[in-house]
Amino acid sequence: MAVLEIKNLHVSTEDGTEIVRGVDLAVSPGEVHAVMGPNGSGKSTLAYALMGHPAYEITEGDILLDGESILELDADERAQRGLFLAFQYPHAVPGVTVASFLRSAVNAIRKARAGGEDDPVKVADFRKEVQAAMETLKVPKEMAGRYLNEGFSGGEKKRVEILQMAMLKPRIAILDETDSGLDIDALRIVAEGVKRLVGPDMGAVVITHYQRILNYIEPEFVHVFVGGGIVVEGGPELAHKLEAEGYEAFVPDPVGGSV
Ligand code: ADP
Ligand code: MG
Repeated sequence: MAVLEIKNLHVSTEDGTEIVRGVDLAVSPGEVHAVMGPNGSGKSTLAYALMGHPAYEITEGDILLDGESILELDADERAQRGLFLAFQYPHAVPGVTVASFLRSAVNAIRKARAGGEDDPVKVADFRKEVQAAMETLKVPKEMAGRYLNEGFSGGEKKRVEILQMAMLKPRIAILDETDSGLDIDALRIVAEGVKRLVGPDMGAVVITHYQRILNYIEPEFVHVFVGGGIVVEGGPELAHKLEAEGYEAFVPDPVGGSV
């Protein structure tokens, strides 16, 4: 049984427009799945629905974690069970430093795992772990003391996101366009950071428009997402085919000028 199972998922926006139209996907630790598709095809909607974003309504189907439906759980509870979403547009959190944000996030998850009892991480242990993770992800030391995402460059935001992922140790990580806005060096560092975390304890869903991040992350499974659903599935060769030929072959009607 896969850890994350998405079954015939249909998602609508608040005004009732159906965006995701019947998606099936199963992800286990150790696996990297790429979801590739043109802009506006509903990829971010799928990611938000997985995390329980209140603006999206699941009208049909189910999302299971370890065989149990999580549809009734809010975003915090889903995170406590091991789901992690790296946002396409991370927000600034004024007045909260990166270090204190990470520590409260880690402690919230520890508390949930201890059945609701406070179980704060020892300060020295936390510091050691953050420093090691920052070094690996090439996040400059002084960033720990800066306010979260305030004035961060695109690359800095993404690195801090992956730092958060490294600290929270999710079982399934969903990365939505983590590659957008990164220069080639930042892209490589971020992608290698993700790759290092994928293993017996973590699987990943890498949502992207472009092939380039996949050169580093090397997914075993590629799902082509068009018009709210998965239209073709394959291995890494499919990502290369898309890079060479674009999405046109998979889009039923030409939609020139899509954003
Ligand atoms: P992608 O991530 O593949 O580019 P999105 O999931 O962001 O696609 O968007 C798919 C479609 O759903 C777009 O037409 C977008 O305008 C629409 N959409 C997404 N979120 C909302 C929302 N909260 N309210 C209304 N429309 C939305
Ligand atoms: Mg998107």
